[in-house]
Amino acid sequence: MVLLVHERPDLDAIGSQLGLYYLLKSFDIPVQMYSKDPAPRISHYLIGSDLIHSGDQGAAVVDGCDLLISLDCGSKGRLSLSSEMFEGRKLINIDHHASNRNFGDVNVVDASFCATGALIYDMICSLNLPISSACASALFAAILTDTHRFYKADAAVFRMAADLIDHGANSSLATEEIYGRVSENQLHLLQESLQTLKIRDQGCSSWITVDAAMMQRCGVDYEDTEGLIDYARNIDGIKVAVFMRHDAVDVWKVSMRGQGYNVSRIAESLGGGGHLYAAGCTMHGSQEEICAILQMKVRALLEENV
Ligand code: AMP
Ligand code: MN
Ligand code: MN
Repeated sequence: MVLLVHERPDLDAIGSQLGLYYLLKSFDIPVQMYSKDPAPRISHYLIGSDLIHSGDQGAAVVDGCDLLISLDCGSKGRLSLSSEMFEGRKLINIDHHASNRNFGDVNVVDASFCATGALIYDMICSLNLPISSACASALFAAILTDTHRFYKADAAVFRMAADLIDHGANSSLATEEIYGRVSENQLHLLQESLQTLKIRDQGCSSWITVDAAMMQRCGVDYEDTEGLIDYARNIDGIKVAVFMRHDAVDVWKVSMRGQGYNVSRIAESLGGGGHLYAAGCTMHGSQEEICAILQMKVRALLEENV
């Protein structure tokens, strides 16, 4: 079987992939991992992250396999795989996005979990299966990041994390590797991107833009833009924060965060998805065009107050 994750995978995707990989390995089940985009640098400290195949290896990895498992991915399209890769293979969809389209032959989707890694942990516990330290470290990283360092985590999440630490996850190593390192280039990007900050809607919405020239000037890639939206989201009084990144000619990656406002409604209306208060989508057009659409949708959301 082959474990798959969403494009440009985050640590919930990679942590779930590695966690499940080591669980299956402990039963000598033949399993491989594939991600269209390479595992991000912040995942490199996890044992096995170098075993994740990527790029044009997809067809070779699925060759001879009859079962695919999609992890942390809300829609089949976000796996970014060619349709031939699915042909003649069963697909299991394991995810925690409320917007999940139930695209698998079997769907294990539960939006009550804070992370796909937490859903996998729960499955492992209910089946009384063993947790190796490699598996524990991977699932810990998934939960740590998708809860934004346990922000708004409840007691059950802390219990899960504590149990994973008991099984060998190193909490301080994870925090240091994921959050404790920043390159000089990333700081330059932060500096430039904050200059684009705009506050609109009488102080209720905040906007940050990163264009391709900025990324080139600062010598960074898309991984380095992770977390920039938090600067917009955390401003006092902000209800909706929007981050726009120019990925290619007329292609924009949009991230949104809501404070009590359901931004996934906007993301879903634009073909994306996510969670109630953290969602995203890809938009096509000029900066002016996508900005106008987003501003209209954000204003409507703020006025509806839902
Ligand atoms: P991000 O803005 O990339 O931090 O993503 C926030 C949440 O929205 C995550 O749970 C993502 O999985 C989800 N998300 C982001 N972009 C998309 C997209 N294009 N389609 C579906 N879900 C997305
Ligand atoms: Mn994810
Ligand atoms: Mn997730």
